Amino acid sequence: NDFTALGLGQELAAALAEQDYRTPTPVQAAAIPKILAGHDLLAAAQTGTGKTAAFMLPALERLKRYANASTSPAMHPVRMLVLTPTRELADQIDQNTRKYIKHLPLRHTVLFGGMNMDGQTRELRAGCEIVVATVGRLLDHVKQKNIRLDKVEILVLDEADRMLDMGFIDDIRTVMGLLPKQRQTLLFSATFAPAIRKLAQDFMNRPETVQI
Ligand code: AMP
Repeated sequence: NDFTALGLGQELAAALAEQDYRTPTPVQAAAIPKILAGHDLLAAAQTGTGKTAAFMLPALERLKRYANASTSPAMHPVRMLVLTPTRELADQIDQNTRKYIKHLPLRHTVLFGGMNMDGQTRELRAGCEIVVATVGRLLDHVKQKNIRLDKVEILVLDEADRMLDMGFIDDIRTVMGLLPKQRQTLLFSATFAPAIRKLAQDFMNRPETVQI
């Protein structure tokens, strides 16, 4: 189908068919092949354009290639981190991830303020490849040594312009310092304002761009 033609595998195609996704949206058609090819990506896309699937589907496809079925938590380090400005957005991305990931041997969890730390800590200790988080709560877990970020392969900054507007730049820089230098970075933003371009310059490696 149209999704496998973009390079996604049967597990994702099946999950999408179950969700009645028939054709990729423009941002998905543009972003999925670039992300599958391993490029960093700077994308201008608003909510409602299908941007969550635009980064999550190819990321899951890439993570799948090296997934292992071990049940040992130590064998399931965090491999993908998605940072969002708000709890609502983190929750929404996690809900979508749950739908896409159904037929893949990968685990996901979500971290945001106002939720009980202990429950989140238990999930992290059990091992999760994919973590969606607000940056403040993520750093709380880092301080308590509940999470390590030194095996992250894919970083997503979603609604990066809102994160900057909300004053999270120092926290974002702190998180960047905990990640491997060699990784894939995907930045989604409503606009490419100068502060976004600066962030891309500081933390991305020759990004491809998509503007819808
Ligand atoms: P987003 O822009 O990521 O917030 O997505 C907006 C809505 O569109 C979500 O409810 C998605 O589940 C849905 N959606 C995303 N991509 C597709 C697609 N290719 N076909 C049908 N629905 C989609």
